[in-house]
Amino acid sequence: MDAGRFDAVVVGAGFAGLYALIRLRRLGFSARVVEAGAGVGGTWYWNRYPGARCDVESVQYSYQFDDELEQSWNWSERYATQPEILRYAEHVAARHDLKRDIDFDTRIKSAIWDEAAAQWTLTAENGRRYIGRFVVMATGCLSAPNTPKLPGLEKFAGRRFHTGHWPHEKVDFSGRRVAVIGTGSSAIQSIPLIAAEAKSLTVFQRTANYTIPAHNAPLDPAYVARVKSDYKTLRRRAKTMPSGIDFDFSPQPALEATPVERERAYRERWDRGGLIFMGAFGDLLLKKEANDTAADFVRARISEIVKDPALARTLQPTNVIGCKRLCVDTGYWDTFNKPHVKLVDLNARPLEGFDADAVRAGGERFEVDDLVLATGFDAMTGAMLRIDIRGKADAKLADKWAEGPRSYLGLAIAGFPNLFTVTGPGSPSVLTNMLPTIEQHVEWISDCIAHLRRRGLARIEADTGAEEAWVDHNRTVAGTTLRSTCSSWYVGANIAGKSRVFMPYIGGFPAYIQKCEDVVKAGYEGFALA
Ligand code: FAD
Ligand code: NAP
Repeated sequence: MDAGRFDAVVVGAGFAGLYALIRLRRLGFSARVVEAGAGVGGTWYWNRYPGARCDVESVQYSYQFDDELEQSWNWSERYATQPEILRYAEHVAARHDLKRDIDFDTRIKSAIWDEAAAQWTLTAENGRRYIGRFVVMATGCLSAPNTPKLPGLEKFAGRRFHTGHWPHEKVDFSGRRVAVIGTGSSAIQSIPLIAAEAKSLTVFQRTANYTIPAHNAPLDPAYVARVKSDYKTLRRRAKTMPSGIDFDFSPQPALEATPVERERAYRERWDRGGLIFMGAFGDLLLKKEANDTAADFVRARISEIVKDPALARTLQPTNVIGCKRLCVDTGYWDTFNKPHVKLVDLNARPLEGFDADAVRAGGERFEVDDLVLATGFDAMTGAMLRIDIRGKADAKLADKWAEGPRSYLGLAIAGFPNLFTVTGPGSPSVLTNMLPTIEQHVEWISDCIAHLRRRGLARIEADTGAEEAWVDHNRTVAGTTLRSTCSSWYVGANIAGKSRVFMPYIGGFPAYIQKCEDVVKAGYEGFALA
């Protein structure tokens, strides 16, 4: 069944796919977006678990390409909830009349390059075929939910949920005995709300995690008016920050401050809340001794909040703070003071299996009605590799990436002409506020396609040498920070058998923008155009 022939086929209708469609249309290209879900929003369409919200402040976690939208949209809270962010995505789709060019409920299963015709054929699970001169993979970094092979999971007969694929209707936990497996961001956001409703909650923790209070609150209209009166300056400042967030970052090394100064700085940021905690000193992710001072501060807060000292110790993380993605919460530690909430340390009591009505760990049976898997995603490469992508000479992307992803700028892949990735591995992506990085990628890609049209060219492909050099540069910069040192999803450690490579580019958003601009100025240096 032929869906048609397009200048570009875009896979995914999250923030990346939506903006790609807007941009390509504006440049006069025909484009079709193909989306597995039944609606727009991507992350915010799928992750409907209780407590889901952004951890970058809403006024920054938003598009900046549309001035009128920026001025007219009003976020209600410092960190918007999932329903509000989804409403925003829907609003953008309606405002730009996007849905007429999106096929929903359509999951792409293969993408095959035809060298002679210089075009891609994408085939969906429902049999629809799309032909595109270009493909834009807007498939997301955190969109392939990970259900680990837990022994005997299939025996569990109660209700089972995954935070990354949550039902659309409200899940009522009242009167129910609930188990949550995982203590990452999704678990940390949902646990307090599940606990507030459930009869009992048992949390199964493999690695204790760091989280900073959100101090979420309704947005002060005066603050919003101030932001809106000069949004451009805020956005410009944000682009000068490695994280792409206008962020209060102190370059002073923690080890040069006195203990009193450090305590004051951490306290002040703890009280303000959120990710700015890690901006207290410049060397927190560079030197272990510096990092220890911030980690000790958080561990001390856990001891203060959690009444039972043994429980507090089990909840205290021992790894580098900020190595795994830092979490932002509302009432997480305090939840463990509630008598109906139990913590099971899987290191002391390994997960042994499941019965129809129980989780078994450390020789004990924990009877539950509902099981919540907050076990994360096959990040950065999962969504792409769930598609059978074949480039020149029928080479499989899965083979090329078997030892870790290789990409030029996280935008293009040698051997896979005319295929672009938005926030692909090798780009700053998940280490940044993703809305501005998505916009920067989409603009680069659409400008590139327009450049080819202007020059009468049909084909662009990353050079193997340029790709190699970029992969090496990524490895070098990753090696300079503590972030590459732990078993995080950044290095693929959460997926059995996945090669351990630090996947996002950690050189910072400004250096990355500069590199992308330099490549264009030098006539698309590192690419072969034909
Ligand atoms: P996604 O939103 O993931 O969209 C990708 C789309 O592609 C999905 O709809 C998916 O269904 C579709 N797709 C994938 N494969 C196929 C296929 N084969 N066929 C058809 N369709 C396909 N980032 C931040 O910067 N700040 C935050 O506060 C923040 N909070 C987050 C909270 C959660 C719970 C999660 C999971 C992530 C969060 N992120 C955050 C990261 C977030 O993923 C990005 O900010 C952003 O939403 C990504 O947009 P995207 O369009 O690139 O990808
Ligand atoms: P995650 O950070 O990968 O956390 C998954 C959790 O499941 C971890 O605690 C992990 O333990 C545990 N786990 C995985 N496999 C397991 C197994 N076999 N046995 C026992 N435990 C297991 O996933 P996430 O919480 O969904 O978050 C993913 C990313 O999405 C975040 O890092 C963030 O970037 C984004 N996100 C953001 C927000 C937000 O605040 N805005 C909210 C949710 C998600 P280990 O640590 O031991 O592997």
